[in-house]
Amino acid sequence: MSERSGRGPHPIPLPHPQGASPPGSRCFAATTARQAGEGEGEAVSPAGDAKKIRIATCSLAGCFGCHMSLLDIDERLFGLLELVEFDRTPLTDIKHCGPCDIGIVEGGVCNAENVHVLKEFRKNCKVLVAIGACAITGGIPALRNNLDLWDCFQEVYCYEGGLECGQIPDDPELPLPFDKVHPIYEVVKVDYFLPGCPPPADAIWKFLTDLLNGREPKLDYEMLHFD
Ligand code: SF4
Repeated sequence: MSERSGRGPHPIPLPHPQGASPPGSRCFAATTARQAGEGEGEAVSPAGDAKKIRIATCSLAGCFGCHMSLLDIDERLFGLLELVEFDRTPLTDIKHCGPCDIGIVEGGVCNAENVHVLKEFRKNCKVLVAIGACAITGGIPALRNNLDLWDCFQEVYCYEGGLECGQIPDDPELPLPFDKVHPIYEVVKVDYFLPGCPPPADAIWKFLTDLLNGREPKLDYEMLHFD
């Protein structure tokens, strides 16, 4: 995670999602976002009549644990919803990511559909965040990278205890699986990495409120987890 020393909070008008700003711009602040105050538990100011910041999230090769941790910010979600609106997420069930300010991606890339979804996020989101170990390094799903994919399929679908007449799925509509699970930065440019498995809810909250208030996200040592 990059830092810009000496850069205090200052408001930067939030460009329209379809404006001329290049994808991946790291500067974020609604002109109405609160400028003062830092740290855990910080309230997010209502956006009033201003256009809300639009956020999309998705899970690729992940377990949804990072999304669960996002929900663990609990009642602070209500304050967040005053300032943001959600595009594609598992919460809204929108199927495709439209123009957004922030895209949050959980999970690594394990098949062709993951690549499609990830590129759609990169194309439409000004800032892309890799959340959790799976998105950053491949994580738990990447443990299969040293194994033969066919052997894995046979183990899961044919030999696993309790299976009767096991069969490896081969419907043509299923996405093509890759031999390896890849971190998302190997496929698209990533602006921020939020580590943890999953990142604690307080870390997600601090990260988001920093972004929404125009600060470069910075986590205290206690909030940084890599497991
Ligand atoms: S980082 Fe951990 S919690 Fe998040 S998707 Fe991967 S396994 Fe699940």
